[in-house]
Amino acid sequence: MNKAFFFDRDGVLNKDVGYLYKIEKFKWIDGAKETVKLCNEKNFWVVVVTNQSGIARGFYTENDVKILHEFMQNDLKNFGACIDAFYFCPHHPEGKISEYAKICDCRKPKAGMIFQAAKDLNIDLKKSFLIGDSQRDIDAGKNAELAGEFLFQGGNLFEFVKNIFEEKISWEK
Ligand SMILES: [Mg+2]
Ligand SMILES: [Zn+2]
Repeated sequence: MNKAFFFDRDGVLNKDVGYLYKIEKFKWIDGAKETVKLCNEKNFWVVVVTNQSGIARGFYTENDVKILHEFMQNDLKNFGACIDAFYFCPHHPEGKISEYAKICDCRKPKAGMIFQAAKDLNIDLKKSFLIGDSQRDIDAGKNAELAGEFLFQGGNLFEFVKNIFEEKISWEK
């Protein structure tokens, strides 16, 4: 079975500018690309799990999100790194696009996206970790019974994750 690092997207991998979908507004968090590479090298799957209620709210479409994720992936490729999978929740109970306006099992703090990834990628959740910038992310990790969840509060993501590898998961060395 595989181990994974789950990452929230906005505020963790890229700057959270609110309902981001335009490539020209995308900006990596300092150290984010290095972080993905580090996880690649340590043989953890890198999995993005992101709430995208902007789809339900009609601000942008699933296709816009996919295009942005392709852009991220291409930029990482040029850096010698790779995100193994992206999962996004397009729903919101109060959304105005009817097909997305519902209570779902994937919107964090629910663990639906993590469970789906575990199934798709044969991930051992007990040996996997999550990095998020909100309590909702942390709670999703707890609901999935991961090995650990870490709240990123800004700064350099690489320094943050390197420290996790050094201090918290020393058995991986
Ligand atoms: Mg976030
Ligand atoms: Zn959902």
